[in-house]
Amino acid sequence: MELFAVPDVPEIRPGDDLAVVIRDRADLREDDVVCVASTVVSKAEGRLYDLADFPAGPRAREIASNLEAVTGDEKDPRFAQAVLEESVELLMESPFLLTETRFGHVGVNAGIDRSNVPDNDLLLLPKRPAESAERIRAEIPADRVIVTDTCGRPFRHGQRGVALGWAGMSASRDWRGETDRDGRELGVTVESVVDELAAAANLVSGEGDDGTPVVVVRDFDWGDHDGSDKHFREIEGDFVRQALRGWEHE
Ligand code: GDP
Ligand code: MN
Ligand code: MN
Repeated sequence: MELFAVPDVPEIRPGDDLAVVIRDRADLREDDVVCVASTVVSKAEGRLYDLADFPAGPRAREIASNLEAVTGDEKDPRFAQAVLEESVELLMESPFLLTETRFGHVGVNAGIDRSNVPDNDLLLLPKRPAESAERIRAEIPADRVIVTDTCGRPFRHGQRGVALGWAGMSASRDWRGETDRDGRELGVTVESVVDELAAAANLVSGEGDDGTPVVVVRDFDWGDHDGSDKHFREIEGDFVRQALRGWEHE
């Protein structure tokens, strides 16, 4: 398997056709997996906003002033308002905002970015990343597309790439029912391939000014495994999230 960045991608602007940008710059094969940073998907989809677009309601003002008291940093209530509007559930409001976005992804600040965003204050995540992936996939020679984001994680320092949406493939390889080297049957292993590929692509795309938001994964072999499309946990089976509901930062 090999990964390479699509060269010479310009600054992406609202209305740009990412599929055209990609297919003009890479000689894609049918079995390539094309990983696209959500930053450029959002830019193309016009998800650029200014803080002034989010007049803060009372809840956002309350959240921001709590955060300010806890962190000692100035917090703009309009940013909190943007996060609330992007979210269906607020999981933590201190010492940072952790929410579930409308498409099921749990992340800090609803994934709203303030880096690599010229001319505007805020870049919101794509509204429906799976549909974004499908739209790109439909117009390029490669059969599989993943929309990625860089995201922190609990329990560990550091961020890494994750999949927000994907098309043309399953999310995970289901190893259940297969056996290990000792013939023991695997009972629980469902491997999140889209996250693993997103993380690999993120290694290549970088986080700063590299200008390489699109990474092609070539010769990735799914192998002979079942697929699963479960990616974001439902609250019923998510015991960590349930525990969070009863938790408060002091
Ligand atoms: P995220 O992980 O989706 O939030 O995206 P990042 O902001 O980390 O950017 C990922 C990569 O895309 C980095 O190499 C950035 O330099 C690059 N990038 C971001 N926006 C653009 C753009 O409009 N054009 C180009 N060519 N590169 C961009
Ligand atoms: Mn991001
Ligand atoms: Mn990134």
